[in-house]
Amino acid sequence: MPKVQALSSTSDGFGALPKPLASRLNKLGLFREADLVLHLPLRYEDETQVSPIAGAPLGVSVQVEGVVLSCEISFRPRRQLVARIADETGELTLRFLNFYPSQQKQLAEGTRVRVFGEIRGGFFGDEMVHPRVKTVREGEALPAALTPVYPTTAGLAQSALRKLIDRAMKQVSLADLLPEGLRKSLRLPEFERSVRALHHPQPGMSIAALEDRTHPAWRRIKFEELLAQQLSLRKAYAARRARRAPVLQGSGALSGPLVASLPFALTGAQQRAVDEIARDLATPHPMQRLLQGDVGSGKTIVAALAMLQAAEAGWQAALMAPTEILAEQHFRKLAAWLTPLGIKVAWLAGSQKKKAREAALAMLASGEALLAVGTHALIEDPVAFPKLGLAVVDEQHRFGVRQRLALREKYEGSDAPLPHMLMMSATPIPRTLAMSFYADLDVSVLDELPPGRTPIVTKLVADARRDDVVARVRDACREGRQAYWVCPLIEETEGAADGGAVRGGKGRDREALQLQTAVETCERLTAELPELRVGLVHGRLKADEKAAVMDGFIRNEVQVLVATTVIEVGVDVPNASLMVIEHAERFGLAQLHQLRGRVGRGAAASACILIYSQPLSQTGRARLKVIYENTDGFVIAQEDLRLRGPGEFIGARQSGSALLRYADLEMDVDLVEAARSAAEELLARQPAAAAAILDRWHGGRSEYLKA
Ligand code: ADP
Ligand code: MG
Repeated sequence: MPKVQALSSTSDGFGALPKPLASRLNKLGLFREADLVLHLPLRYEDETQVSPIAGAPLGVSVQVEGVVLSCEISFRPRRQLVARIADETGELTLRFLNFYPSQQKQLAEGTRVRVFGEIRGGFFGDEMVHPRVKTVREGEALPAALTPVYPTTAGLAQSALRKLIDRAMKQVSLADLLPEGLRKSLRLPEFERSVRALHHPQPGMSIAALEDRTHPAWRRIKFEELLAQQLSLRKAYAARRARRAPVLQGSGALSGPLVASLPFALTGAQQRAVDEIARDLATPHPMQRLLQGDVGSGKTIVAALAMLQAAEAGWQAALMAPTEILAEQHFRKLAAWLTPLGIKVAWLAGSQKKKAREAALAMLASGEALLAVGTHALIEDPVAFPKLGLAVVDEQHRFGVRQRLALREKYEGSDAPLPHMLMMSATPIPRTLAMSFYADLDVSVLDELPPGRTPIVTKLVADARRDDVVARVRDACREGRQAYWVCPLIEETEGAADGGAVRGGKGRDREALQLQTAVETCERLTAELPELRVGLVHGRLKADEKAAVMDGFIRNEVQVLVATTVIEVGVDVPNASLMVIEHAERFGLAQLHQLRGRVGRGAAASACILIYSQPLSQTGRARLKVIYENTDGFVIAQEDLRLRGPGEFIGARQSGSALLRYADLEMDVDLVEAARSAAEELLARQPAAAAAILDRWHGGRSEYLKA
């Protein structure tokens, strides 16, 4: 595994604090005093005023002051602490469902308290549930400023955190690290002024601008955060490029004949990507390149040519895919292309029989096989490549950072050169995201689809008209075409339909339900379409069963393929011209786009039918509208980013995302761009300032960017 580089971190950690406190702070990602300065409020509470109990507005946070009339533990409907307080205007009930004995003591009869919370009208009159309570003297002064509320963790009270932060603000240097000229040209306030304003807003500052983070003080902080992110990523990039890699000089001896044997010519975009990759591979430094291209843009042949370049230079190459179906398809394709050229391709997957696996391992170990294709089985022990020159990862966002790196690092001897790395993704990445999270990668884009594709017609159909859809499937298959029928995602809870629905949460129950739905759908379609063969593929099938079904579909022995989303990535059956997606409103945009991309791969007119059921939620409707109106993956990705934020795109890629707490890529596009050029400038001209900014933002964290 990659060596984790601990930065200057713990030396100036929380040595002086009691251990339990320090470990709570660590939980918040705070490792030293300086980190506390950048631990900024989530929101603010206005305790600068006291409302009379009788006139206090309901449903918003207010502060009232009164004397405790009574305080007792009540047992109905469950054990709780109930107190009554009163001021000159009226009375208010305070209710605590969970409480400490100390709270009961604090609310002793006759005590004067200020309580902060929301008042709501209850059956027994107005009440506040779980208010914040402060004991005060009569006439005690009110705070002059808004009260900051910080992200915190169990066992760490706001008041304690505030004190720690205030102390840190006095001890840590708040010097401005941005060059004056840069700061002024961006019209950003000074660092010290900004952090002070955010921790302790002065009276008159707009709560709204503070809370929606548009205040100039926020912009200053967000800019510096983005700048630190860019600096990190660039440094990681530079560090990687400084390492040694095998020089994979292509001779064309293998790639030439392969290109000549293809039934098509490369598109301009493919040729460009091939050239960019070829140039990188021929340098003595590891390539770290992302090949980005919409579904069907033809990434596989680009990867194959890169792998052949490694083979031509006498090095091995490996291609890893996230699912066995996809890996198998790559294997078939590569074997068909390359066996005639005398290149052996080894196959490695989890389901493999022991004997076959051992044979594959032997071929790789001896160097007899120059290429390997497989799933994450490729990165398991005891796979050994004596000469791995290039690692290719397909659908890279499906893998975790560790897994992707493992493919490269696994073969890294202490002084052996580092293999080149090519990552592929069919998820188009919006520009801001690419600029921000992928700043440490080189990117090749396939922005052109192979010619001769007929556009896919997208239809939205209410589920009441399911019979019509079945009739369409029948017609398409009668003409010799084939169809996919994708079963709905099973939602765990409402609102889980954000595309993450299949992954997270209580997987077991949902997976079982998913399976049941798929089986039922298959049975129903078999009954409705007796003249056709209906196949079923889902996540619980054994790999060889899966392969058998896919095989039948590829050979058109199966006309209708009922599937859970296992077909989402990469399946390539050009004769399939119809994609039906049930409960389409439950799928995420990226998934819908990927699924739709399974058809429209041959010359026949293709269609994608999205069956939805009423009532549609707002987001469900918005998603369907986007997919209905757009076919360009980039536009869809941009909309997706707008609807859902960056999570889906970056997947488990942590290097960039772990570095952003405050900036918002959608809202702060201008800052992303500014940070990018500023990072370049600083690294070139003011490396000391760059180092200081990096230390301020990331110095305390032990993890470092490697991906
Ligand atoms: P993806 O980028 O989604 O991985 P694939 O590599 O699976 O796309 O290619 C999709 C289909 O397009 C495949 O059937 C492939 O053989 C075909 N293809 C790739 N490049 C071209 C091209 N230049 N002209 C015509 N067809 C192509
Ligand atoms: Mg692909």
